[in-house]
This record gives sequence, C-alpha cells and structure tokens, in this order.
Amino acid sequence: MKRIIVIGATGSIGTQTLDVLHRHKDRFTLTGMSAHTNESSLLQTAANATKSGNPIPLCLSGAVPSDDRIQYFGTDGLDRLIRETEADIVVNAAAGAAGLEPSIAALESGKDLALANKESIVMAGRIVLDLAKGNGRRVLPVDSEHAAIFSMVERFGKNNIKEVLLTASGGAFRDLPIESLSKVSLADALSHPTWSMGAKITVDSASMANKGLEVIEAARLFGLASREIKVVIHPESRVHSFIRTRDGSLYAQVSKPDMRLPILTALAWPQMLDEDVADLDPAFFPMSFRPVDYGRYPLLTLAYDALDSGEGATVAYNAANEVAVEAFMDGRLRFIDLERILAPTLEKAWPVMLADITEVIEVDKAARIVAARKVQEIE
Ligand code: NDP
Ligand code: MG
Repeated sequence: MKRIIVIGATGSIGTQTLDVLHRHKDRFTLTGMSAHTNESSLLQTAANATKSGNPIPLCLSGAVPSDDRIQYFGTDGLDRLIRETEADIVVNAAAGAAGLEPSIAALESGKDLALANKESIVMAGRIVLDLAKGNGRRVLPVDSEHAAIFSMVERFGKNNIKEVLLTASGGAFRDLPIESLSKVSLADALSHPTWSMGAKITVDSASMANKGLEVIEAARLFGLASREIKVVIHPESRVHSFIRTRDGSLYAQVSKPDMRLPILTALAWPQMLDEDVADLDPAFFPMSFRPVDYGRYPLLTLAYDALDSGEGATVAYNAANEVAVEAFMDGRLRFIDLERILAPTLEKAWPVMLADITEVIEVDKAARIVAARKVQEIE
C-alpha cells in the first residue's frame, strides 16, 4: 500500500488524483491533504475521500480555518503537514510559484514527488532534482507530456534519445484570425478545445505560455538543450508527446485526454496497473499534426529565449506570466498585452545560475515587481 499526500486537493488535478486513489484503493491510501482558501470544499473532499476510514491531517494553506478538523494552516502549516505526515509520495497539484516550497518539503522529508506543479521545475529544476538525488527519492512528472516522455525515456534510456516533440492543442485561439486576438475576452480564453483544467493553465494554453513552461520543464527534467525540444500542434490531444531515438524512429504515447492516466502512471511507477479510463481505438479517433505558427504565439518564442538565457530568466518568465495572466483575468489587460509584460521583464539581466531556493525566490519577487510596473504602464 503506497501512502499519498495530496497538495491542492480541491483543484482540477487534485480532485482527479482523489478519483485515481479511489479507483485503486487496494494500492493507495490517502494520508493527508491541503487546499488554499476553499475550506468547505476541503472538508467535503476529505469526508468523501475517507468515508469509512480515520480522519486524516488537513491543511488550509491560505486562510485561518474556522473548523477544528483542520489542524494545519498557512504556508508554515503546509510545510509542517508535508514533513510531519507519513507518506511515500506527495502529489503536488498546487497552482503557481507557491508550489515550489511544498516540493522541497516533500523531498527533504524523504518522500517521492509526483509533480503536476510544473512551476517547481521551471523555477528550480536543477535544485529540485539534485535534492531528490541526494535523498534517494524520485521526481515523477504528472504533466501529461512529461509523464509520456518520462515513460519512454525510462524504457529507451536517456542516451538513446535524440530529441523530444511536445504536442500542443494550440488552445482556444488556434483557428482565430490573428487580427481578432486584440478583441478576445477571458471567457473566450477559457473555452479550451480538448482539456478541462484550472483557469490559469487554460489561459496559458490559449497563449501557449503553458507550452513555453513545458519546454523549460522538459529541458530541466530530461537534461535536454533547447534545440532538442520541438513543439508540434496536435488539435485532438491524443498523442501526449513523441520522442525521437538516435536511429531516427519516432515513438508516441497515445490515449484519450484524461489526466487520470498520467497521475496513475506517476503513482504506480515503476509498476503499471490495470486501468481503462483513457483507452482509445485509433480507427475511430483521428490524429492530425501541423507546425506551430510562432507569429501567433510570441510567448512560446520568449520561453525558448528564457531557456537559452539561464536559470534566472526562466524564473522571471514564470513570474511575469503569472502577473500578466492575473491582470488579464481581472480585466486590466487585453490578451495581446501579455507579451508586452513578459518581453520587457525578460530584457533585464537575470542571473544565469541560481545558488539556492532563497535566490530563486528573490528573483521571482524582483521579476514580479518589474512585471507589475509594466502592467501599471499599460492599463
Ligand atoms: P486549480 O486552480 O484547479 O487548483 C489549484 C489547487 O491548488 C487548489 O486546490 C487550490 O486550493 C490550491 N492552491 C491555490 N493556490 C495555492 C497556493 N498559493 N498554495 C498552495 N495551494 C494553492 O489548478 P490545476 O489543478 O489546474 O493546476 C495545478 C497545477 O497542475 C498547476 O501547476 C498546473 O500548471 C498543473 N497542471 C494542471 C493540469 C490540468 O489538467 N489541470 C495539467 C498539467 C499540469 P483552493 O481550491 O482552496 O483555491
Ligand atoms: Mg501539459
């Protein structure tokens, strides 16, 4: 029986993780979980997930709880929940840069890290992976593209991989005339063609900043140079990524777009469990591919630039994007203004290497200040 803590249990990935645990209750047991501010949802989720069993430790990381069934609260409380609760794996499904510290706490306290929070790797990939190695633990990617690549790299061996191709749906505005992008609303950006996800990542899919973050995530997780990571538009989201081996063959991982599969892959690793949520018959599910139109997705180009500039620039990319997307979601920026926040923030000279998490957080804060000033100039 593997013991699992779920961070961000009330979100899109969190609730799907609880469903996976429920479907495989002979294999996994939930030993703790957190939400940020949604207390009623945390209590309801906990009640559903532990129907017949004992109560488990709960944390509300962004508010003071009013119910004494929630013993941990605040960022310190989240850190303590992770370190003090016995578990084999922490699923980190927190949204945004705030997910970095829980990742560190999980690895430092000797747990494997099933990582949906791509920001942890974008901001501090080398530090997180070194920590895992030093503690004899694993980072198991949950992001569907990276879970696919991870499974293939583990089977073929890193030395045999020539390049990886990340698939991208192209997001909500894939087929819109570029001139119309100046008029799109938040509601338009939130109607994703294939995946149902949290709001921020859905906006990032429309701008392809999500793919940009994933290019950086792939570089750091698999030790690849930027030229070894390609992106291809695949509207149906059935191929979750390709790898090309050194002999020129292309291999793909194919399934219905259902995050429960990559979550299960990470939790079960290195074993494989029976599951059919994502089975598909290729005879009835078409799959098409086309090249990326980089003119439509300037934030993807900026991610490659950030990756080539170094570690500080990738922290700044994520921070500026979080500030810009928040302003777009609050109605303070237009969709096409996102680039006008990210590009100038990345022009600053950010450190090429970051010594430790303290420095990562310093760069994150500094980049947010630069980006927030740009938002003020435009709004
Ligand atoms: P959601 O917004 O749906 O859920 C976020 C969860 O994290 C909620 O439980 C929320 O609690 C909690 N949370 C919010 N802010 C904080 C914080 N500052 N500290 C700790 N916890 C916090 O997000 P998603 O599930 O869509 O995404 C989660 C992560 O997974 C992101 O990094 C995303 O990029 C990644 N991911 C998501 C995919 C998807 O299909 N959704 C696919 C691949 C990766 P509360 O409910 O109380 O606000
Ligand atoms: Mg993804």
